Amino acid sequence: LFAAVELAPRDPILGLTEQYNADTRSKKVNLGVGIYYDNEGKIPLLKAVRKAELARVEAAATRGYLPIEGIPGYNQAVQKLLLGDDSALIREGRVLTAQTLGGTGALKIGADFLKRLAPQAKVAISDPSWENHRALFEYAGYEVISYPYYDAATNGLNFDGMIGALESYPAGTVVVLHACCHNPTGVDLSPGQWQRVVEVVKARDLVPFLDIAYQGFGDGIEADAAAVRLFAASGLMVLISSSFSKSFSLYGERVGALTMIAADKDESLRVMSQLKRVIRTNYSNPPTHGGSVVAQILNTPALRAEWEEELAGMRERIRAMRAALVAKLKERGVRRNFDFVLKQRGMFSYSGLTAQQVDRLREEHGIYAVSTGRICVAALNDGNIDAVADGIAAVLS
Ligand code: PMP
Repeated sequence: LFAAVELAPRDPILGLTEQYNADTRSKKVNLGVGIYYDNEGKIPLLKAVRKAELARVEAAATRGYLPIEGIPGYNQAVQKLLLGDDSALIREGRVLTAQTLGGTGALKIGADFLKRLAPQAKVAISDPSWENHRALFEYAGYEVISYPYYDAATNGLNFDGMIGALESYPAGTVVVLHACCHNPTGVDLSPGQWQRVVEVVKARDLVPFLDIAYQGFGDGIEADAAAVRLFAASGLMVLISSSFSKSFSLYGERVGALTMIAADKDESLRVMSQLKRVIRTNYSNPPTHGGSVVAQILNTPALRAEWEEELAGMRERIRAMRAALVAKLKERGVRRNFDFVLKQRGMFSYSGLTAQQVDRLREEHGIYAVSTGRICVAALNDGNIDAVADGIAAVLS
């Protein structure tokens, strides 16, 4: 059986890091990653995380199985992060959440759950989107289509194209939307544009699946949840996948959640009972460590305040790097206007560099970026930003 198995292509982004690691030049920079690094170029271990972990070790917590849907205090805290502390939907019992294996796990159990309900539905993702969206939904058995999103001419959003596509979809089409800090472009919708999307999704009877992997990295925890709250208030059935990989710097602990909003409490209980079957047959129940740490932080006021401050620090550092990059390109006489980088949100920027310019950056300057021109702004720091500005100025001249 295995003899006929073909070699699968390498993951493009992980492949880039392998190439970077093999590069022997001393001055090299990897902007191809999807990870937040601090100003020293390290993945931070947040102080709030450290404290919660120490407390957990101290308490000698045992390692029994969690419930299928995970830690109740974690799931409740996730709902409040998404919908606000005083959400009527939560009070009414219309919101259900399961702790998942990262944001990827949330997307996958959401995909599997929907597939059983609506086997013929297609899934629409943005063009471009996080590179795993298409493969994940295809592997779950869907035909995946894409709606226009990025406009290379303006380095911004093709809103008319996006709305036109949504208006053309048949009822029941699952629409995956990046709730904030779009990966890979950094281009987000304005509040007014979100309002319009909600109207179209509602009018066309589409199924919104919001992916929120960077809550707190754009404008703040509350502000970044605006699109989620708009959909939640619309009366639509909504799926939301959360990832805490970046916001808690807990990548390898696989901390995420799938939240759904149902029409009423009874529906919510029925939906949860079916979702639990999907989880049970996939991985049975989630791991204890990351979820306990995040629950402890979110539910302990002092730790929560410390985390919010650290999260704000990460957000502000990224914004400072955006501003510094734009200023340094101007200083170097680059004529192209890069001000769009200041408007983008989150860890990434579609820089507008072509695949050839990206090749030259790598070959001539040891600066690694994705061939689409995506750079990880969160991998810039005071020590590498001048080299990056020099490299970009050189390939543009
Ligand atoms: N969705 C988007 C848009 C992402 O960028 C990512 C991670 N880079 C994920 C989902 C997956 O998150 P996780 O690593 O927690 O599985």
